[in-house]
Amino acid sequence: MRIFHIPAYTDNYIWVMQSGSDISIIDPGDASPVLNHIKNNDLNIVDILLTHHHFDHVGGTLELKKHISGKVYGPVGDINGVDIQVSENDEVKTLDYEFSVLETPGHTLDHIAYVEKRKQLVFCGDTLFSAGCGRVFEGTFEQMHNSIQKINQLDPETVIYCAHEYTESNLKFVNSEINDNFIKEYTSEITQKFKMALFPYQQN
Ligand SMILES: [Zn+2]
Repeated sequence: MRIFHIPAYTDNYIWVMQSGSDISIIDPGDASPVLNHIKNNDLNIVDILLTHHHFDHVGGTLELKKHISGKVYGPVGDINGVDIQVSENDEVKTLDYEFSVLETPGHTLDHIAYVEKRKQLVFCGDTLFSAGCGRVFEGTFEQMHNSIQKINQLDPETVIYCAHEYTESNLKFVNSEINDNFIKEYTSEITQKFKMALFPYQQN
């Protein structure tokens, strides 16, 4: 059992849960990198989980749906291809994972996150990123704040899987606003990781 990502577009993370040769995917914004990966590694897609309606998160759904053995889960709304619409506290079982749904409006009104309490992880889409939060497009800042507080209330050991690589640009902004040692240390750690090409995307 493992979790890895498939890079897509300029900075998207398509997260993949793998158990043996079965995988389930979060937010496949583009089908082709996923199809290449499953072909090269002889994998089967079981389920697809979607966090919100933005194209760079759902764009690959219909194409990938031809290849899945399970279901497409997504928020209540009009995303094409969703089989099962889920809302607050609904359960989503896939592979060996048992998620509960957290509604996290702000970035979009339909935004949800998938929390696995037992395994201490959350797929939070575009609600929270490393050193920043998602842009507030559809909701209010108050909604976004409440959504982040919901994530904040999860067990502190919870691993947060966000859907974009924005760390460097977020830290630039944070450093321009706050003079803080933790932030400085994190910035130098991240700068070092980018130098070592440990991220799939290079920013400037
Ligand atoms: Zn988005």
